[in-house]
Formats: sequence, C-alpha cells, structure tokens
Amino acid sequence: MARLVTGRPGPVLALRADIDALPIVEETGLPFASEQAGAMHACGHDGHTAVLLAVARTIAGMRDTLRGEARFVFQHAEELLPGGARELVAAGVLEGVDAVVGCHLILELDFPKVAVPTGAFMAAPDTFAIVIEGRGGHGAFPHKSVDPITVAAEVIIALQHVVARETDPNEPVVVTVARISGGTADNIIPASVELGGTVRTFSTDVRGRARASMERIVAGVTQAHDAGYRFDYVEGYLPVDNDAELAARVAAAAERALGEDALTDIPRIMGGDDFSAYQRAAPGVYFMVGARNEGVGAAFPHHNPRFTIDERAMENAIAVFIETARDLLAAE
Ligand SMILES: [Zn+2]
Ligand SMILES: [Zn+2]
Repeated sequence: MARLVTGRPGPVLALRADIDALPIVEETGLPFASEQAGAMHACGHDGHTAVLLAVARTIAGMRDTLRGEARFVFQHAEELLPGGARELVAAGVLEGVDAVVGCHLILELDFPKVAVPTGAFMAAPDTFAIVIEGRGGHGAFPHKSVDPITVAAEVIIALQHVVARETDPNEPVVVTVARISGGTADNIIPASVELGGTVRTFSTDVRGRARASMERIVAGVTQAHDAGYRFDYVEGYLPVDNDAELAARVAAAAERALGEDALTDIPRIMGGDDFSAYQRAAPGVYFMVGARNEGVGAAFPHHNPRFTIDERAMENAIAVFIETARDLLAAE
C-alpha cells in the first residue's frame, strides 16, 4: 500500500488494484506474453496494476489541489480463496477510510463502455470437493467392484437438479463441476473419483439451500449404488455490493471524464470478487470497464489462454479513478 497524505484535513479514499495471475499456459502470442510457463494474467489484473500505478503518479502530481488522503492498495490473491482482500483489511489498510473504489476490466462489456452498478451485482463464489468412494477391481468384473466412475457420472448430472428443479427460477444460481479425476488404466475400476467445482449465488438463503441439496443428492446417489462419499464445501467471498450514494458519485465522475454516452447498465455477474471484503469495512464501489473489442482480438473470455483486452480501456479506468479522487478529495 502507498499513501498520499496531503496534510490538509479531509476524507480518506482508498483505491484498489488486484495484482495476481492464474495457473494457465498463455497462448496469446503477444510480445509481452508471460515468460512463466503456467502463470498468465488471464483476468486482466496486470491491467488493473498498470492503471493504479498511473493513477498514483497522476494524483501525486495533483497533491497541492487535494485534501485528506489517497491510499493505493495493490492486493495479492484475488483468485484464491479466502482472498487477499480479507488479509489486507485485517492488516489495517482500510483503517480510517471513508470510501474505497476499485475496477475490473471486463470482456462482457464492449470498449469504450463503463458501468457503475448499484447494490449487489457480483455473486458469492463458493467451491466444493466431492470424493466418491467405491471399491476398485478388474474392469472385466464390474460385479466384484463398486464402480465410482459410473456413480460420479450420475452425481454430476443429478447436481444440476439443484439449479433446474430446486431453486426459484427468479433466483440466480450456478452449480458447475469443473474438475473430475479418477482411474489409471483402461482395465482397472478405480477405488475412488474426485470431483470439484463452484457454486454461485446472491442470496444467503439460496446459498444455504444449494449447499444442503448438493450434499443430499451426493448422499442419495452414492447410497443407491453402495458407494460412499466425502463432501467438502467452502464458502467463498460475499457478493460485491455497491454503496448507492458512492456509486452515484463515481457514475457522475465517469460521465464527466468520459462523456455520458460511455455509461451503460450491465446485468448481474455470476463471477465473484473479494472486493466485497473491503465493502464490509467502508462504503465501496467496484466499477466495470468495458475491454471487449473483436477488432483487436479482445474477444476471449476471462481465464481463457487467449484472453486479452483493448488496452484503451485502461485509459478509461484511469480517467474515472482520477475524476473520482478529484471529486472526493478536492481542497476547498
Ligand atoms: Zn479472474
Ligand atoms: Zn479478476
């Protein structure tokens, strides 16, 4: 964290960028592609880092016209539960802070659009791990085994009932099995299969019921086939929930900086972000900066090996941050 203390009494504004990468082998072919095999900035956090560095440099140059304090928070481990934000809040980075603002460059939104949502708009991202415990044996004698592969297949399909048959269609929920492993050879029935994935919800109620339904389904399907199971569920970040009053000020700043045509609404996002941890400590706004542009090849989703952005989106993010700081910290 860096602090710009003006020495004049006034509010404290924290600006946050996440800095971490993902375990992906980069396939963009860009001249500045990752040189670390299996580490790629596939979510745009390198863009956030560059943006906040530029913002810090610019705001440092404006210090004579500002009051209060600006804090620049460069945060680790956004992609990894329980998240770096929680650790930084615990370490005191938001002590005395009156407002916290961050942004994400996103491919769901076309360049040069910007959105400043109000209220809860990013989901709670939970994770789960399931072990189906069968009894290993010879592939030619399935009756002498309990085959965890076929049981796992049923579990995967049945879990979608949580979404399609057990949750009010007006309530957003995602259950994704994203990983499955089991087996070593074509003629061996393995002893167990492991599944893992993510659950995304907005309401505490839906979250609790989804978790309970999942375990009931896993227990029922495995019991039906004489298998056992282990079920681990980890609650992730809280939903990102923008403070209405601060959102109005950031939106007005975005309009002044980029023109009123730049602002747009976006639907709720089932992705999550640990920016929500800051919002439990101070009023916070997370704004979305459109970075999609097929014309420059920026059309792949986040976390894809070919993910890239229209880099002009970074200039938009910088402009919104600076105008927001000017608005909140202007000396009398
Ligand atoms: Zn990400
Ligand atoms: Zn991200």
